[in-house]
Amino acid sequence: MMLAASQVKQQTFRRTKIICTIGPASENPDCIRELIREGMSVARINFSHCKYDEALERVRMLREARKDLDVPLAIMLDTKGPEVRMFGYSKPVLLAKDDTLYIESTDKQPEDVAALPPEKKHFFTNLPHIDKLCQAGSRVLLQDGFIEAEVMRLHTEWPGAVTVRVLNYGRLKDKAHLAVPGADYPIPFMSDKDRKDIAFAVENNFEYIALSFVRTARDIADVKELVRSVRPDSPIRLIAKIEDKQAIANIYDIIRDSDGIMIARGDLGIEVPIEELPGLQKNIIKRCYLAGKPVIVATQMLESMTDRPYPTRAEVTDTANAVMELTSAVMLSGETANGVHPARVVNMMGRIIDRAESAIDYRALARITHDYVDRDNITNIMAYSVVDAGHDWNAKAIAVVTASGIGARALSKFRPSIPIYAFAHEEVLYHQMALNWGVVPFLIENPEGQRFSEVAKKTMELLRGKGAVSNGDRLVFMASSPFGKGHPTNTIRCEIVGDDAFHDET
Ligand code: PEP
Repeated sequence: MMLAASQVKQQTFRRTKIICTIGPASENPDCIRELIREGMSVARINFSHCKYDEALERVRMLREARKDLDVPLAIMLDTKGPEVRMFGYSKPVLLAKDDTLYIESTDKQPEDVAALPPEKKHFFTNLPHIDKLCQAGSRVLLQDGFIEAEVMRLHTEWPGAVTVRVLNYGRLKDKAHLAVPGADYPIPFMSDKDRKDIAFAVENNFEYIALSFVRTARDIADVKELVRSVRPDSPIRLIAKIEDKQAIANIYDIIRDSDGIMIARGDLGIEVPIEELPGLQKNIIKRCYLAGKPVIVATQMLESMTDRPYPTRAEVTDTANAVMELTSAVMLSGETANGVHPARVVNMMGRIIDRAESAIDYRALARITHDYVDRDNITNIMAYSVVDAGHDWNAKAIAVVTASGIGARALSKFRPSIPIYAFAHEEVLYHQMALNWGVVPFLIENPEGQRFSEVAKKTMELLRGKGAVSNGDRLVFMASSPFGKGHPTNTIRCEIVGDDAFHDET
């Protein structure tokens, strides 16, 4: 069934965005439309589990849906990254407490290693020199951290192998994830597959790439170089996934050099002690929004809804806490990719977000953010003033005309209570801004050559036509004029919506 634009649910203004992973359960036009109707702002395609033809078909459906429904929707490719695996067995292996396993590093591909009988408990890993990364007593985590083991012996007579003792019962699935928490893995940040996938994202005009296992700012520089080599003027934006200890150690540089951060709690919860996750999450969210960068909280947010109708109390509280910590977005993975009712999960997530957002004191928050105005950046200074004026004047909304997104992102940094209506003429930017906290993007014609008041009046009329504002509402405008000349922000203007607005200039 096709939905007309008018059938998109009119929601209360939602500041925190929802990212849905598209997979077998959601890769059909009806489901994608339902996800959008329930509040999906970004669609993620996970390249750990997707081939190019499948991805192109998903992208086609997503683009068709966003066009038909006339909504901004960013499409994000998530790279596989340098994954460490165990292999050398042909079917799942049951492990019992105190089993001893022999794990040997190999440079062979999993498909080139002959499977040994499971009772031999002899496995292989693509992690080079596993014996050099641990010592007797080190922890090794298998199967996404569900099976814990302790290193008993390093095999000096057989370099590149360790014997471990299993500490808890578990089932080792095909090519199980292996981690030596805290170790710096001697494997390149980008595999050949990652390079091809990044080029694919650039060539096919994805709005975002989420980069798995970014460890240093250098990693981001390498990706930027690769992007430039594929398309020098690519507007694609790079989200660094924070998944290990090294990334945490370099977090300030990574935030500075990336276009946003994803707190990838799945892997991060394996690579650092799991009890550190809440503190790290809180800290990273704050660092990001004060740097004016979007931040995403990911993984297991409403996991139990993958096959159940309701979330657990803990999941509801976790999602609400992320919202109250002011994350830009919350992400659904298996819940929408493989779950039994993807749209129901998004609806639930939206309800949790709306309730949590209503408990935030935005004005108090804006006062705190004053300390974080970048005094060398006029757009930052003006954005703070716009938010302040909007609050003090009880404005209905802020309107920003933005050619690069910088103005909209600067306003988002100060987390205003009122919507940031952002008007862009580049379609890619229009969709990219769907990720930014509090930003509601609109597409307009290129304002270059037009006067500020002319353009601002048109945006006001567009908002009035859509029912976003009514006569008598107060609006604070921000822009850099003349348009298209690359000036930093230089204009703030307060107007009351109505036929008389901008009367002195028309
Ligand atoms: C994560 O580890 O939390 C994550 C989002 O990454 P992926 O789903 O790609 O493992």
